[in-house]
Amino acid sequence: MTAPEHCVIIGASHAGTQVATGLRRHGYEGRITLVGEESQLPYHRPPLSKAYLKGEKAADGIRLAAPANYEKNRIELKLGVRVTTADSAAKSVGLSSGDTLNYSSLVLATGSVPRRLPLPGAELGGVHYLRSLEDVDRIRAEVAAQGNAVVIGGGYIGLEAAASLRSLGMQVTVLEAMDRVLQRVTSPEVSAFYQDLHTDEGVVIRTGARIAKLSGDHSVSAVELDSGESLPASLVIVGIGILPATSLAEQAGLELDNGICVDEYARSSDPDIYAVGDCASFVHPLYGKRLRLESVQNASDQALTAARHICGQPEPYCTVPWFWSDQYDVKLQIAGLAIDIDQTIVRADPDNPRSLSVLYLKEARLRAIDAMNRPRDFVFGKKLIMEKSVLDTARLADVAVGLNDAVVQTASA
Ligand SMILES: Cc1cc2nc3c(=O)[nH]c(=O)nc-3n(C[C@H](O)[C@H](O)[C@H](O)COP(=O)(O)OP(=O)(O)OC[C@H]3O[C@@H](n4cnc5c(N)ncnc54)[C@H](O)[C@@H]3O)c2cc1C
Repeated sequence: MTAPEHCVIIGASHAGTQVATGLRRHGYEGRITLVGEESQLPYHRPPLSKAYLKGEKAADGIRLAAPANYEKNRIELKLGVRVTTADSAAKSVGLSSGDTLNYSSLVLATGSVPRRLPLPGAELGGVHYLRSLEDVDRIRAEVAAQGNAVVIGGGYIGLEAAASLRSLGMQVTVLEAMDRVLQRVTSPEVSAFYQDLHTDEGVVIRTGARIAKLSGDHSVSAVELDSGESLPASLVIVGIGILPATSLAEQAGLELDNGICVDEYARSSDPDIYAVGDCASFVHPLYGKRLRLESVQNASDQALTAARHICGQPEPYCTVPWFWSDQYDVKLQIAGLAIDIDQTIVRADPDNPRSLSVLYLKEARLRAIDAMNRPRDFVFGKKLIMEKSVLDTARLADVAVGLNDAVVQTASA
């Protein structure tokens, strides 16, 4: 007799909920259990550093799905419960509640955890990471107009937090260890755009910053630099990157390489265990490299790939990665990855300093685009990346020329 079909999904966020609903959409008739250690109903994470931090949206406004949706799809939600053990030989997982669940398929959608700041004073009150809704509730309780906030890390989350705190009236300083903000993720042109944007809005950005320690009694009162300079701070937000949550995968003996290694169907080295979203790394067919992507698009699309495979309808994962970031009145939309490029072209709007696209090409084919307040460039750029069209690069710098009008040859031609 075969064991009853039971898909256990660990992690109830973007990737986990998409696997659960995707399974039903593709005809899965077995039992589905979605286990999440956060006690909140699953929610959209991107608004945390944007509309939710600014108080423009309430928790109810950022739910991924209404409670009735889980019932309708016969998804057993176990919230506020952590999976503590994973035994791939016994095909079971142990829960913090003391229960054990047997599975026929297991999906790890455990996401990532913030990298901790390895400095004296990092455990003081008033020092926060920004990953969960509860983190932001704690931050919001400490926002004080005219108060001093220091953001450690000039990546997307740090800069979004800086923009939100600034719009709430705080005096904000961003400390970035590298030579420019967003150095790990984008080009010097885009870094310069964001440095100028924040400076215009009254945020102080300090690159090449070396922090010695955080000081204060019980709560932080200052960030001390190596130079001896002391920056007053009643609120510190640390955004220095994330690490994939792989401890259960390690226990289960899965192959790891910058995350849980999966194939084009999101299958790990154990054929009954899948991994999706921030915790998984895979060889991207468009780039021929092992990557781990930290985006809602990847979490959702890879989750659907796993759901289809579990339902016996395999379809390899191959999409152009995309991402967005909102800071002040600027919407950044990114498509593709600027890997292995030989040309960068800037499309600057002479009439609007807050509108710019940066194109990344190889052999006149678009590989990636960063579009700031240029949604049409983003839409056409995404299409051209997928189509691998050859472009007339001489015309691309002219913002009056639409990206689709610069095509000289489609890949299929
Ligand atoms: C503040 C912020 C802003 C962002 N903005 C954007 C944006 O603008 N655009 C964009 O594309 N992306 C953005 N991202 C990134 C995006 O949110 C992530 O890529 C996405 O959430 C990944 O989804 P996931 O389901 O893989 O992982 P996560 O969302 O990290 O969820 C993993 C879940 O698993 C749970 N879990 C982990 N281990 C266990 C366990 N053992 N037992 C039970 N539960 C467990 C965790 O508690 C968590 O709820 C942002 C992220 C943050 C934090």
